[in-house]
Amino acid sequence: MYWQPEIETLDPEALKALQLTRLRASLAQAARAPFYARRFAELGLDPGDIKSLDDLARLPFTTKNDLRAGYPYGLLAVEREQAVRLHASSGTTGTPTAVVHSAADLESWTQLVARSLYMAGLRASDVFQNLVGYGLFTGGLGMHYGAERLGCLVVPSGTGNSLRQVNLMRQLGTSAVHIIPSYAMRLLETFAELDLDPRKDSALRLAVIGAEPHSEDLRRRVEMGFGVTAINSYGLSEMNGPGVAMECPAQDGLHVWEDAYLVEIIDPDTLEPLPEGQVGELVMTTLDRQAMPLIRYRTRDLCSLLPGVCACGRTHRRLSRIAGRSDDMFILKGVNIYPMQVETVLMAYKEVGNTYLIHLTRRDHNDQMTVRVEVAEKARTMDAEEMSRLKKRIAAALKAELLVSAQVDLVAPGSLPRAEGKAQRLLDERGA
Ligand code: AMP
Ligand code: ZN
Repeated sequence: MYWQPEIETLDPEALKALQLTRLRASLAQAARAPFYARRFAELGLDPGDIKSLDDLARLPFTTKNDLRAGYPYGLLAVEREQAVRLHASSGTTGTPTAVVHSAADLESWTQLVARSLYMAGLRASDVFQNLVGYGLFTGGLGMHYGAERLGCLVVPSGTGNSLRQVNLMRQLGTSAVHIIPSYAMRLLETFAELDLDPRKDSALRLAVIGAEPHSEDLRRRVEMGFGVTAINSYGLSEMNGPGVAMECPAQDGLHVWEDAYLVEIIDPDTLEPLPEGQVGELVMTTLDRQAMPLIRYRTRDLCSLLPGVCACGRTHRRLSRIAGRSDDMFILKGVNIYPMQVETVLMAYKEVGNTYLIHLTRRDHNDQMTVRVEVAEKARTMDAEEMSRLKKRIAAALKAELLVSAQVDLVAPGSLPRAEGKAQRLLDERGA
């Protein structure tokens, strides 16, 4: 039932004790990095003073800007010669951020991914096709080694070339995939173009989906479309990549591996800790990383810790579905809006297709939001009157959810741009 039963079901008190031991080791290790050595010295902090998990709150946060400023080796806590792998964040603008791993780091990461994938339902008998980027992005190599560790037959098919992906799936008998949800929807279109139905014309049974925010409805679309169980997988390169948190078959929150990560949820404005159940920014501390320990890293991802215990017997707590990133939020006419709110409204309509784009413009100091929505293939035949009714319903639902008006444009299936990596949902052309 479990890949590492003794760790996955560790008694919560024992888990806390393990966390404290590891936290103290992690702080001592971090102090070897020039960045933390300087910061601890500036603040007059002796990592040895941390005697309980509550003392953690006395330590400063680490931010993405700190990683940028320290790029590439400023946060390295081992000799460069001991580092064996470097990954970088997917950010396309500005200075990149890099995370460097030792051989021991890669071994723990592989185990975390193996543990997560086993929990998701992946087994040695599976043919596992990994349809994400192999390269600086962590989803490729990260998932790859975890699935190999389970003994799966791993197909490193990477991104793009949808026709070839479908062919591989059918020829090899792919039973499980790792895929970005927006690309999963794109792949469904390829199946349809080939007059194939993945539910009948493939051996797929499991999809591990992640790397970008997605709604519950989008998950159900992946499940229905492919005839699979779709498991939400969360990770970020700063915390290795995949293998940070994943759903178990209960699909009720993502177990976050608390032997490897110390989790806090804070109010992003006051920076104060929030109780279980309240949505705030996820802050994480690595507990067993050698080459680049990170202390109280502000992920910018918004979620809550779910109260209660999970039926699966794992004691590691669960994160709620990620509601978006605090830096994805945009302000329209004074109202804070997250792209995921728009998606949640849209995906509830069966007439709505797979892709949408939120377009922000400004004219005469007046901000406008236009939501471009692809209609579903099945809804292609709608007449003008039906289209206009659907537009009105969507516009009203958006207004109710967002409290501001949006112009809704219905466009033909397949007409909006597709990304091979993470989808771009927001086009902000309002200027400075
Ligand atoms: P990267 O470091 O480039 O892999 O990007 C990591 C970021 O992707 C996270 O900080 C999240 O914002 C986002 N992300 C990854 N997995 C998920 C997920 N399952 N749900 C929502 N957002 C996710
Ligand atoms: Zn569970």
